[in-house]
Amino acid sequence: MSDVLKLARPDLLALEPYSHAHWDPALERLHANENPWRPAGDDTELGLNRYPEPYPQALADRLAALYGVAPAQLILGRGSDEVIDLLVRAFCRAGLDAVLTCPPTFGMYKVAAQIQGARVIEMPLVAAQGFALDVDGVIARLGEAVKIVFLCSPNNPTGNLIDDAAVRRVLDACAGRALVVVDEAYVEFAGRDSWSRELGRYPHLIVLRTLSKAYALAGARCGAALGDPAVIELLRRLLPPYAIPEPSIELTLRALDEREVERTRGRIEQLLVERERVRAALPRSPLVRTVWPSAANFLLVACHDADEFLARGIAAKLLVRDVRRQRGLGDCMRVTIGSPAQNDRLLRALEAT
Ligand SMILES: *Cc1c(COP(=O)(O)O)cnc(C)c1O
Repeated sequence: MSDVLKLARPDLLALEPYSHAHWDPALERLHANENPWRPAGDDTELGLNRYPEPYPQALADRLAALYGVAPAQLILGRGSDEVIDLLVRAFCRAGLDAVLTCPPTFGMYKVAAQIQGARVIEMPLVAAQGFALDVDGVIARLGEAVKIVFLCSPNNPTGNLIDDAAVRRVLDACAGRALVVVDEAYVEFAGRDSWSRELGRYPHLIVLRTLSKAYALAGARCGAALGDPAVIELLRRLLPPYAIPEPSIELTLRALDEREVERTRGRIEQLLVERERVRAALPRSPLVRTVWPSAANFLLVACHDADEFLARGIAAKLLVRDVRRQRGLGDCMRVTIGSPAQNDRLLRALEAT
């Protein structure tokens, strides 16, 4: 058994997955209790009346190529949200184990842990140091049955990258003790390499990627975990059969052909230009106190008057994210970089009147 599997729930290691109907597209299907006729408006290749491939291997292989890993190092799920859930389920025993998160950060880590009945240990990022990781704080708490450390880089909602040396220190401290999950939902906007290059060196490293942000496919619900093949294989056995709907499989494969990927690169460039334009312009609003630097496609904005910021956005028919309930962000809004026209509308709405 791979050493990293010793961290997983022992009761799951022998789990026999659901035995789905045999998949052979060459044969006609009278074995899955499907309907023989297509529904109205169905323009899928396979037919919406048919169950999709139990696990869409061609799409998973395409993502592995896109992310530069071997197919055995990747599991595809309904967004990275689903793989976060699978990770917590696979590694945390209810009532016994814990996850460690570093708020303010993405809320799903905590929710997934709470649903599983795992404890949540929080080690806040250090706002005074640009929301840097408190590495000593993280390492000091590892003894408390922590099975997964969630790091988000670039972090949502603060926008900063977690320093490489800090991630490496956490990885070293967690070897043989806990998984380190680096969520890279926004890495395409950060102009840096993925931590997935280090997978061979750290079997307890898991990298999360998603098509929802830079690839403009949030509606397709496709995300992935990259990691040691033994961990990936365990997660695969927990994934429900037919998790990815047929329209998502077909449309996503189409959206990831070479030409489209080239277009994505151009759009990322455009969003980065817009991000810097909005970042420079926002402080001219009397409502804005500080705009934090960002390596993602959003900006964290500290406000003099957050209620008014929100209200002016809504008056211009634009929603921004109120993050004031998050730890240390009592006066902050998170603003996604939109099209140039949307960004102009927001900036105009925030001008003095
Ligand atoms: C948006 C986001 C995700 C969610 O991605 P899906 O693949 O759409 O589920 C994951 N992590 C972070 C930090 C995010 O901001």
